[in-house]
Amino acid sequence: TSGRPNLPEGRETREWIEKDRRYVWHHIQPYVASRDPMVVVKGDGAWVEDLEGNRYLDAMSGLWCVNLGYSQKALAEAAYQQLLEMPYFPLTQSHLPAIRLSEKLNEWLGGDYRVFYSNSGSEANEVAFKIARQYHAQRGEPTRWKILSRYRAYHGNSAGALAATGQAQRKYRYEPLAPGFVHVPPPYCYRCPFGQTHGSCGIECASAIEQVINWEEPKTVAAVIMEPTITGGGVIAPPPEYLGRVREICDKYGVLLIIDEVICGFGRSGRRFGHQNYGVQPDIVTMAKGITSAYLPLSATAVREELFEAFKEDEPYAHFRHVNTFGGNATACALAVRTLELMDEQGYVKRAEELGERLREALEPLAAHPNVGDLRFFGFMAGIELVADKATKEPAPSDFVGKVIAGCKRRGVIIGKNSDTVPQFNNVLTIAPPFVVTDEEVRLIATVLGEALEEAREG
Ligand code: PMP
Repeated sequence: TSGRPNLPEGRETREWIEKDRRYVWHHIQPYVASRDPMVVVKGDGAWVEDLEGNRYLDAMSGLWCVNLGYSQKALAEAAYQQLLEMPYFPLTQSHLPAIRLSEKLNEWLGGDYRVFYSNSGSEANEVAFKIARQYHAQRGEPTRWKILSRYRAYHGNSAGALAATGQAQRKYRYEPLAPGFVHVPPPYCYRCPFGQTHGSCGIECASAIEQVINWEEPKTVAAVIMEPTITGGGVIAPPPEYLGRVREICDKYGVLLIIDEVICGFGRSGRRFGHQNYGVQPDIVTMAKGITSAYLPLSATAVREELFEAFKEDEPYAHFRHVNTFGGNATACALAVRTLELMDEQGYVKRAEELGERLREALEPLAAHPNVGDLRFFGFMAGIELVADKATKEPAPSDFVGKVIAGCKRRGVIIGKNSDTVPQFNNVLTIAPPFVVTDEEVRLIATVLGEALEEAREG
């Protein structure tokens, strides 16, 4: 309890909670009457501490973002130094942290990319869509404006990014959203939308994209957007050959490939970027979250230099009419540079890959559990798909899923769950801890999850 400012002795704790109830609109569930909000006051490594002094191992890294954990002094110092030196200047001109970060991102991407900055993953995707459309228009193809994406995917909360999102339950109360978004089935081997089995299939999930491009008329399609692996939709890794096929299809029809690295980027996949696991080069890469380990808001849209050529003409029509006041904030960029340096210095990407192996070993025994239908991994993340019945694959009911999550929390471990098209498929537990956890803490997560599963089963 040391170091907490005037907290949390009895009445005062209650007061904060009452004030939260009075003033704060929480994300997703605005107000929960039946239980107190968790007010986090402190972080240390992978652990957070609430008002009451309870400590939790955050096995979700916040929202898949605090990749380096909660107590990296070097990041705080980098931000502080930049704040003293020059806190802000708009990127209609430039500043040193943006130049440094863009160079560093090129090194990490291993290609030749031009980088546009915003504050959130949603904005980075909106930028990608606008760039894709304008790129085609400037090359004489103004009818290419449709964006293809996949069901079960999440790409953000703004009109275009939500339109690209393939999860109806997040969308239907806010429609109509931006027009021009078309969805294709995801590569989802456990419940293959094409009724196939990987190994004997023709990767129909990739061919479907070609079919839809043709049905829509290729001259109307600007881009395909996808994550390397669907993350929030339930940790759904594609068959290994899938992304390469998608790249070929995009090339065949002159369609741009936008890869959303908002979660998969910055080591989470065991490589610097998720797409590097599949040997493809995207046309546009969007990133956020781990770029600053979530210490400050920042996002980026990296565009292949060949595409940028279309924007180089010194004519108003070639301007990219998109200003973002805070986008590429100097302090956030300086912090991001330090994040990437720290990852290089400390070997965090390699460590994330190792931790992914540890997580797999620790969770694998749970595959035998009667309510575990499918165990999925990608880098240092896991999805545990819960079922009521292994043979029929009927999804576990939501109160069962809720009990498992609550059981973990009571034992001091925060895990997450997916969000999907329809509520009954919110049955995938998700795990994506910070890269600073120990092997022992990974085993603790698995042990606690096993206990919580048993407890939920017993009722
Ligand atoms: N893309 C993906 C894959 C995401 O997971 C998210 C956020 N969960 C976003 C985009 C949107 O990012 P933000 O919440 O920063 O707008």
